[in-house]
Formats: sequence, C-alpha cells, structure tokens
Amino acid sequence: MPGAVIVMNERPHGYARAKLDRCPCYTCRWAVAQYYEARERAILYGTWRPFVDAAPVRAHIRNLQACGMGLRRIAAEAHVDRKRLQAIITGRPERGTGPQPRVRPSTAAAILNVEPRLNLLGPSTPIDGTGTRRRLRALVAAGWPEQELARRLDRTPGNFSALIRRTHVTVRTALAVRSLYDELWQEDPLQHATGYAVNRARKRAVRLHWAPVMAWDDDTLDDPAARPRGVAA
Ligand SMILES: [Zn+2]
Repeated sequence: MPGAVIVMNERPHGYARAKLDRCPCYTCRWAVAQYYEARERAILYGTWRPFVDAAPVRAHIRNLQACGMGLRRIAAEAHVDRKRLQAIITGRPERGTGPQPRVRPSTAAAILNVEPRLNLLGPSTPIDGTGTRRRLRALVAAGWPEQELARRLDRTPGNFSALIRRTHVTVRTALAVRSLYDELWQEDPLQHATGYAVNRARKRAVRLHWAPVMAWDDDTLDDPAARPRGVAA
C-alpha cells in the first residue's frame, strides 16, 4: 500500500487507550471513570480543604504522558510550573524528597483539567480513525468527488482511498481532515466540480452506505459506538 502505513502501537488498556484508540473495554472505561471522579473530587474539595491526595493527580500526569504528552506541554496547558509536576511524580531527589503526597486542590484541579485533545498531541501520534473516516465519507455523500478531496489534502487518489478505510490515523491527518470538513460541509460541491463528478460521488456513497453530514452531531462523529441517524448501517 502506498503512502504512510500506520503502525498501531499497542497501548495498554487504560486512560490513554480509551482516549486515543476509543477502546470501549471495561478496563478503559473504568480508567476514564476514575479520572472524572478524581477531577470532580478535586474541584469539590477545593472549596474547603487546604490539601488533597496527590495520587490521582500523579496517575493523571502518567496517563497524559502515556498519551505522548511531555511534561512541558502538560505544565503549559495546566498553567502549573514544570518543577511542580516533577515534584508530584518523582519528588525532588536533590532535596532528598520523594513524590509529593498532597497538593493544593487548585493545583490538582488545574492538572486534572488537562485532557489529551488533538491539538495538544504530537502530530505523528496514532489515534482512532473513526471520525476521520466519517468526515470524508460524509463529504463524498454530499457530492465531493474523492479526487477533489484528495487534492485538497495533498494526497494521491490511491493514498486517499486507503485513508477513507483506515482504522487508525495520525493526529496530523485527523486535524487536516477536520479542518477540511469544517470548511466544506456547508459548501456546494457543484461550485468546485462537474455535475457528473458530483453525481457520481453521491451515488458511490449511497451504494457503500456512507452516512451523510446530517446523520452526525459534533459529539457523535468521533464516537465509534455512535450510529448514524436515519441510515441503515
Ligand atoms: Zn481497552
């Protein structure tokens, strides 16, 4: 197969796999539930406790690292000093201290607020390709010829037809397809392609049961468990 073939790195089941690979298994869902619980607790305790347990915060920093985020990135996003993150995960060996046992609730909440959103991940990080596939398919269903979409994504037609089927994509590709989709979903393809090509794209999407734009909401597009509205799957 031409072009970049994505080697899916097998992330262990847990938060990172749930968030990046959208794994629906029990372990992954439990890890995410633990995270939300810790975040809520930090926010709640913040109003009346001077300190909270650092363990869930430490676990979350590790989770973000497992997603490929570096400490520098996490610190910038949480608006917390990097040394403070270091103190939470490893302590300050130069001062002879181990991992910090407790943290200020506001620090905990700030760190627990950081999630591995696409724009915070490294561009070559592999992630679940569901949203990417659905966006491209919905554009074809709207009448955008695959050749035109491939051109706009700087891809060869062969590379593009592999992409529209791929289970995993890089963050870079996912972001490029997102912005293409945001740009085109309300546009009229007839302004950019011949009636023949538009018609052919629509027919192809119908034949392959590719769901149209109307079948998705912003919050269902990327969710592998979500089914398209009004389309026999
Ligand atoms: Zn899992």
